[in-house]
Amino acid sequence: MISFLKKILKFLIVLVIIGYIIPNKISSPISQNNISKIDPESFWYYPWGESGVHKGIDIFSEKGTAVLSPVSGFIIKNGYGTIAGNYVYILGPKWRTYYFAHMGTTFVHLYRYVSRGDTIGKVGDSGNATGKPAHLHYSIETIFPYPWFYEKNTIEGWKKMFYLNPAKYLNIKSD
Ligand SMILES: [Zn+2]
Repeated sequence: MISFLKKILKFLIVLVIIGYIIPNKISSPISQNNISKIDPESFWYYPWGESGVHKGIDIFSEKGTAVLSPVSGFIIKNGYGTIAGNYVYILGPKWRTYYFAHMGTTFVHLYRYVSRGDTIGKVGDSGNATGKPAHLHYSIETIFPYPWFYEKNTIEGWKKMFYLNPAKYLNIKSD
């Protein structure tokens, strides 16, 4: 029994390490010339309706613009929610997840692999963005927290350990 648990533990450790070894290239989910506006201040903006704090950024673009996977990874969740509209979650390198909402349509299959640059959907105004200018809600979460992002005097500041500001990842870069 113990050796079985040891094996599982080893497997999990290897799995975690693999997540950090995969090259971590991140590009913009909307190509630069299709972006009409980004509000860089919108990250962690409060109050933000039902979301409390806005844990991502909104990229404004024409309805129907292709949404590209910013990383190579796996589709771990997709569907429709009354707030999110058509959404997609991608698990990418370093155990980070990439979340997109309000899309008009999505072209993904659950648990399938996507390469960086693959079209995963189209910009829209679904969910609670209906009737508002079309935009892509984009957030990056990390499964393993970054304690140095903790902000004591910020609303929901502890959650900052689990979120990255996507505005910093709109030009291809790795880190
Ligand atoms: Zn948003």
